[in-house]
Amino acid sequence: MQKILFIIFDGLGDRPIKKFGGLTPLEAAHTPNMDQWVHKGICGTMNAMPTNLYPTSEEAHLAIFGYDFVRDYPGRGVLEALGIGIKLKPDEMAFRIDFGTVDQSLKLIDPRAGVIESTEKLCKAVDGVEVDGVTFKIYPSLLYRGVLVLSGQPVKNYLKKVKHAAISDTDPHKSGPHKLDVRVLHPQSFGECREGKTVARALERYQYLTHEILEEYKVNKKRVKQGLPPANFILARGEGRLKPVQSFKDRYGLKAACVAGAPLYKGIASYLGMDVLHVRGATGTLDTNADAKVKASIKALKKNDFVFLHFKGTDMAAEELGSPELKKKFIEKVDKSFSRLSGLKNVMIVVTGDHSTPCELHDHSTDPVPLLINSQFPIPNARLNSQGKRSNAKFGESECKDGNLGHIYGKDMMKKLLEMRAM
Ligand code: ZN
Repeated sequence: MQKILFIIFDGLGDRPIKKFGGLTPLEAAHTPNMDQWVHKGICGTMNAMPTNLYPTSEEAHLAIFGYDFVRDYPGRGVLEALGIGIKLKPDEMAFRIDFGTVDQSLKLIDPRAGVIESTEKLCKAVDGVEVDGVTFKIYPSLLYRGVLVLSGQPVKNYLKKVKHAAISDTDPHKSGPHKLDVRVLHPQSFGECREGKTVARALERYQYLTHEILEEYKVNKKRVKQGLPPANFILARGEGRLKPVQSFKDRYGLKAACVAGAPLYKGIASYLGMDVLHVRGATGTLDTNADAKVKASIKALKKNDFVFLHFKGTDMAAEELGSPELKKKFIEKVDKSFSRLSGLKNVMIVVTGDHSTPCELHDHSTDPVPLLINSQFPIPNARLNSQGKRSNAKFGESECKDGNLGHIYGKDMMKKLLEMRAM
C-alpha cells in the first residue's frame, strides 16, 4: 500500500496577472518537479468547502481531512493554542488574537500593527490580568499573532450553559466581510444568560484596560518615534473550547505526522491526533526553510502512513502583501526543494491548496484550487493528448481545470486518496 505525502500550499490558487502575460503566479513559476508529477499523474480542481461560504484556512483544512467543519470545529482560538503548545483545559476559553493599531476613537487603522515582528514583550506587559473573576493569560505567536486564554468561575459557569462558540469577535477586520476604518466591535455573548454577559463584559474591559497599558508601553513609544504603527490593541476572534474529536488514525487507520511552520496548522494536526514535528527553520513565513521541511517529511514517511506538509508563504504573499512576484518566487523555492522527493518509492504525492488567495483581492476567494495526485502506480485515466499519448504538462490553474480528475470537494478528498492508494 502506498504512503501519502499530502502537500498544501496555503492560498495556492490565483487569477491571471497582467505582468505575467495573463498567467497566474503558479503558472508563471518555474516548477519542473510539480510539472513532472502532473505529467505522470492526474490533476483536477478542488473547493475545500461549499462555494457559498467564505473559506477560512482552518475550516478548509478540516474539510479536506474529511471532518465536519461545523460540528468538529473547536474554534480558531483552540487550534492556535494547540499549535503553540498550550495545554488547554476543557473549562477554559481560547481566542486567537492579533495586535492591531487603533486611533483615539478605537477605530481600527491597521489590523496587524504594521506586521510587528514580535509581541513577546507586549504580551508580558498585559499577561495574567484578572477582571471580574476572569483571568486573562496571553501567549505570543508568530509576528503580530497570539492566543488569549480565559479561565475562572464565570468562564466555567458559562461553558456549562452553552455548546458552541459563544463570544463574538471584536476584530472588525476579520468579522464577516472584512472591514477597516471602523471601530473595534463590542464582544457579545450568545444565549440569553447572565454568565455569558459577565464574560463578554470582562473581555471588553480587559481590551480597554490593556489598550491603555499598551499605549504607554515603551515598545510602542519607540515604534511611534520610528514612524511605525503602535501595537496598541488586542483584537480577539475565533473563540473556542476543546472538543472531543475522532483522531485521524482512528478514522482512516493511517498513522499521520505534520510538518508545518505556522501554529494554526500544527494546531489542526495536533487536534486530529497527528504527530506534530518540530523542524528548525520552519517559520510559517516566506523565509521558511523549505528544504528542511521536505527532508523532515521524507524522514517522517518512514514511520508514518500519511504526512501533511504545509507551506504558508503562498497565502502570505497574496493576502498580506498582494505580491504575485513573491508568490511566484515562493512557489519556485519550494518546488526546488521537491527535487529531494524524486527517488521516493511507494509514496503517493498530492499537491493542492486549502483555498485560493488572489493577489488582486488580498483575501481568500472561492475560486477552485489546482490539485495534482502523483501515484506511483499507473493511473488508468491519466492525462492524454489527442493522439492518446501523455503530453507535457505545466502544473497550474488552466491545466488543472481540464484535468481528468475533474472537480472535487474537500469532503471527498480522503475517500479519493484511499481509493487510489489501494489501486
Ligand atoms: Zn489558508
